[in-house]
Amino acid sequence: MSGSTAFQRSRGKPYAETFRCPGGALCLDFCNSGENARGHSGTEWITGFPDLIDWLEAAEAITRDQAGRLRRAAAASPRAAAQVWGRAIKLREALFRVLNAKAEGGAIAREDLAYIEAEHARAASFARLSWNGHGYRWSLDPSAAALDAAMQPLVESAVSLLTSAKLERLRRCGNSTCHWLFIDETKNHSRRWCEMASCGNVVKVRRHREKARSAAH
Ligand SMILES: [Zn+2]
Repeated sequence: MSGSTAFQRSRGKPYAETFRCPGGALCLDFCNSGENARGHSGTEWITGFPDLIDWLEAAEAITRDQAGRLRRAAAASPRAAAQVWGRAIKLREALFRVLNAKAEGGAIAREDLAYIEAEHARAASFARLSWNGHGYRWSLDPSAAALDAAMQPLVESAVSLLTSAKLERLRRCGNSTCHWLFIDETKNHSRRWCEMASCGNVVKVRRHREKARSAAH
């Protein structure tokens, strides 16, 4: 994605990693940006409101103009911006728990759904119906300048995935130490890895080593 390349250059942070693995929905790539999402590196990629805006812009969830307005609003009210960032991270964690439970067959906590519902209600005032060539979809009001508006694309993506038939195709990466989520859109439901280049190969190398070790004994 060209946006992420430019972004990586300008920030020098590893956000582009979230885009190497397209989860198939903005909210999945957002979950996949989470602390400890892949193993236990302990690296938080979105460390504040400015990072959140950079991430949304790199993901093409908001336009450059929208990002500019939100950055100016954050510069004027840094404390309020930090609170919105905190809400975004809380949303990411609630959504991750719900989706991970769905993918793994676990129990879904009502309080996590309630958090998503509450953020959906707050984001609704920033949503506008826009034509995408096939139908209408909810998108962020192009003139929105309130800090809260940054939540709208994330909430919209989360709710549209949760209410869509695609949820049946939600998978967690087959590498046991990776928590990345994706939609398996292959015809024969065969996608196993968040991405072959990292997890797919890691597991293959691990199996190869185990085989070689047991053959040696
Ligand atoms: Zn993975």
